[in-house]
Amino acid sequence: MSLSLRLIPAQLLSEGAGVTVHRTIGTPALRSLDPFLMLDHFNSTRPGDYIAGFPDHPHRGFVTFTYLLEGHMLHRDSMGHSGDLVSGGAQWMKAARGVIHSEMPQQTEGRMSGFQLWINLPAREKMTDPEYREILPSRIPLLREGKAEIRLLAGSWAGHEGALTDPLTHILYADILLSPEGTLTLPGGLLSGRSAFLYPIDGAIRAGGTEVPPDTLAVLATPSLPAPDGLVLSGGDRPSRLILVTGRPIGEPVAAYGPFVMNTREEIEQAIDDYRNNRFP
Ligand code: MN
Repeated sequence: MSLSLRLIPAQLLSEGAGVTVHRTIGTPALRSLDPFLMLDHFNSTRPGDYIAGFPDHPHRGFVTFTYLLEGHMLHRDSMGHSGDLVSGGAQWMKAARGVIHSEMPQQTEGRMSGFQLWINLPAREKMTDPEYREILPSRIPLLREGKAEIRLLAGSWAGHEGALTDPLTHILYADILLSPEGTLTLPGGLLSGRSAFLYPIDGAIRAGGTEVPPDTLAVLATPSLPAPDGLVLSGGDRPSRLILVTGRPIGEPVAAYGPFVMNTREEIEQAIDDYRNNRFP
């Protein structure tokens, strides 16, 4: 029997100064998946799809998590951090009360692919100090489970700790590679009390027997629709790869306007006013 999963096909959009992205979370089909606010997948070998990058822009009220599968990107921000993001690396940025940053490609040809995820912060964290952390590819633990390889960027998996532990958002972020005909049974309790999704990177993916097409997000669990214990992921006759992400729902009101995500309309107006009047950190 196959499980009926909610599938969200990506919308093609232009972001930043003209970067082509496939968006799933943050579209009319899935406004948010508490605590996740937005998921963009970028994947192109055409420089015209990515070369313009993301020049200086602000964020307030949440965390951005960027995972670069292939390419080279430079991050600079108003806290004075600069970070070289290379293939297989990730960055976690807590914008909180405000960050202005740029994310610019450092390549003029070749493939640029990866994901940017926006993760909401609880009200008590929204106006705290910003923070920035890099996850180097060499620091990402690799777990092996039968025919599956799990690169654990964040969170814990059956007692193993990932490269990053985030006590603010409690996210788990895993890059999973399945050998041909490989299957992976998710550890018991991995999805309990969580929102969770997967997104294919390569090859055919099934979750609980349901096929997940390319450029499509599959919702695995929400607080009101928990996943069955022991959900099985399976691949096809070629290697397949996906990301699996979970987070703890916050359950607070969301007021969002572009790069500002707060709890009330008044806080959004304050964010716009602070940004216009150079009151961002
Ligand atoms: Mn940004």
